[in-house]
Amino acid sequence: MNAPEPFDGSTDTLLDPETDPSASWALDQTRVRRLTGLLRATSGESVRAISPINGQPLGDVPQSTTADVEKAFVRARRAQQQWARTSLEERSRIFLRLHDLVLERQDEIIDLICWESGKARKHAFDEPLHIALTARYYARTAREHLDTKRVAGVVPALTRVEVNRLPKGVVGIISPWNYPFTMALCDGLPAIMAGNAVVAKPDAQTMLSALLGLELMREAGFPEDLWQMVAGPGRLVGTDIVERADYVCFTGSTATGRIIAKQCAERLIGCSLELGGKNPILVLRDADLDKAAEGAVRAAFSNAGQLCVSMERMFVADQVYDRFVQKFVDRVNAMSLGASLDWGVDMGSLISQDQLDTVTKHVDDARDKGVTVLAGGRARPDLGPYFYEPTVLEGTTPDMTCFGEETFGPVISIYRFQDEAEAIERANDGEYGLNGSIYSQDGTRAREVARQVKCGTVNINEAFGATFASLESPRGGMRESGMGRRQGAEGILRYTEPQSVATQRLLRFAPMFGMSDETYAKVMTLNVRLMTKLGRK
Ligand code: NAD
Repeated sequence: MNAPEPFDGSTDTLLDPETDPSASWALDQTRVRRLTGLLRATSGESVRAISPINGQPLGDVPQSTTADVEKAFVRARRAQQQWARTSLEERSRIFLRLHDLVLERQDEIIDLICWESGKARKHAFDEPLHIALTARYYARTAREHLDTKRVAGVVPALTRVEVNRLPKGVVGIISPWNYPFTMALCDGLPAIMAGNAVVAKPDAQTMLSALLGLELMREAGFPEDLWQMVAGPGRLVGTDIVERADYVCFTGSTATGRIIAKQCAERLIGCSLELGGKNPILVLRDADLDKAAEGAVRAAFSNAGQLCVSMERMFVADQVYDRFVQKFVDRVNAMSLGASLDWGVDMGSLISQDQLDTVTKHVDDARDKGVTVLAGGRARPDLGPYFYEPTVLEGTTPDMTCFGEETFGPVISIYRFQDEAEAIERANDGEYGLNGSIYSQDGTRAREVARQVKCGTVNINEAFGATFASLESPRGGMRESGMGRRQGAEGILRYTEPQSVATQRLLRFAPMFGMSDETYAKVMTLNVRLMTKLGRK
């Protein structure tokens, strides 16, 4: 792929390569059309994708209609019936092929993610890696999660009970732009492994990365109609999906999650919601301060803070506060920012003007109300249209917007605490509960603190990567950060209907051999007492 042309300082007068020979596309248009050709989109309208790196156009993405979504569901339903009959071994083979393909083609995937999102290469690297890990995990554990399981029947030997895991049908997946490759794919993979089909609507800003994922899945051997992709505004196309799906997996803001939860409740279908956060990091007094400062930089500024599990609140023990803050701020000031597809950049761009506006508003509001800016605090239009410096605030107070609201950008507030109970209470403040991080050299103590932090994941001596990449561990939010979990057993079982099948032999649940109802009741009561004495559960 081409290297980005330097940003010329304006996105107001974008040149149109279709009409102006001096303008150029950032990507090969034959390639872009091959990707967008995978969409079900016949409206005749398209939306131009623009790179946040330098404002260069990437390509035109055709938009879907309600009829396209309807057709996607019809095709997906047909494909699902066929797919549900394939063996778990066959599905696992395809998943392992996807794992290999994603690792082989990771440079191409990372390039496209960088072009579309503006993030630094090292942050884009996490995406194909996470998909390879997800594909491998579900390939290797399919039997463990999905095989029919024998469970104890009420009458030993005479009641045989087994639980089947049947697919739900067609799962609707609505995903955000911040991790465009992994978010578009990671929740659909367990759905497919469980025998479902998928109709997915990735965010409009990052369709191409998602479509590259679809292309790779087809190359790996996924049947063509099994995973459908549609494009368009969430309010329209997203709603079209929710109205037709048998289950919905949504990742995005808490506000949208609430709308989707209501719509799913109305239809009596299940949903899992992976939502926002205002995540806390705790630096305890016995923390290794260098490790904590290094981890805190990743915690706050990975993907320029546009990461659901990134940290926006840091609580530091009084005993180490001054030394730690100095180390942290030094590291932040040393970070390299840049618009580049190359390695070696510590932080890239925000994705859009909207994101830049929110970050600017939050920092300006805090500054106006008296916050101290320890690092950053400025937009950097000299680097690209949407760059903002990694920013560290001290003295953030409850009247400032960024105290409790998610900024979803490179802004972290530092607070001093006197004792751990107080730190835990303040970390649990607010309604979110997604991800926490604790730095301490006492593992046992840190794990005790973790149990008191109301977050779906807690990473000790790490920012978020330890839980993010441990595919066996369920990941998601408590309170307003979500419902349900991705990854692990929960991540796949949510897409199944448990079906209990009991076969009764010899004995029936009614009086036998001329017994009266009363005698039957006595015999049964005796039986229950006996079984309890014998230790039956
Ligand atoms: P958003 O809710 O605006 O959009 C997310 C997706 O929902 C997009 O595909 C969008 O088109 C679609 N959508 C929007 N309105 C819709 C509607 N009414 N019906 C159906 N679909 C609709 O979120 P965003 O601002 O783009 O993303 C950032 C948010 O996502 C942040 O709050 C972040 O914390 C959260 N997020 C959470 C996780 C997680 O795993 N918990 C991961 C990534 C992002």
